[in-house]
Amino acid sequence: MDIKCANGVTFDRADPQLIKLARVFYDKAVNELKIPIIFTSVDRLLTTQIVLFCQGRMALADVNKIRKRLGLYLLDSSDDNEVTWTLDSRHVVDNNKPFSTAFDIAVLKNGSANWNDKVNVNGNDVPDYIELAKMGQSIGLEPGALWTNVKPDMPHFQLPKIG
Ligand SMILES: [Zn+2]
Repeated sequence: MDIKCANGVTFDRADPQLIKLARVFYDKAVNELKIPIIFTSVDRLLTTQIVLFCQGRMALADVNKIRKRLGLYLLDSSDDNEVTWTLDSRHVVDNNKPFSTAFDIAVLKNGSANWNDKVNVNGNDVPDYIELAKMGQSIGLEPGALWTNVKPDMPHFQLPKIG
């Protein structure tokens, strides 16, 4: 089965183990949990991570000036909030770390990405992002939704740190 990725998102620069787990994750999400999902982010350049970090912390007009220079789409006022809490993201690839060890997903509701923490497409008792986090953990991923020492990152999954 082909996994579903947002426009421009690929696993070309992803760790082979992450690719393997992403396929298992996708299959279980769609076929077992009955939660349609899409992969929204895999690898990122450090410059992209930095401008994401600026988002919600700097004036939107200034953030957009940087985004324009980087060839990224421009944000509107609905995007004027913090979206990341780190510069040291597992998504970032560079010469020292050529492969991303993280991916982000979105739950699809009526075909559109829905980031509401409480979204419940399969209609059971558990919010979809929590169900996905627990399933991800059961196959060996570290889900950002279950972080307790830092702000939870609901759509984020990464390979656990080794050693
Ligand atoms: Zn992420």
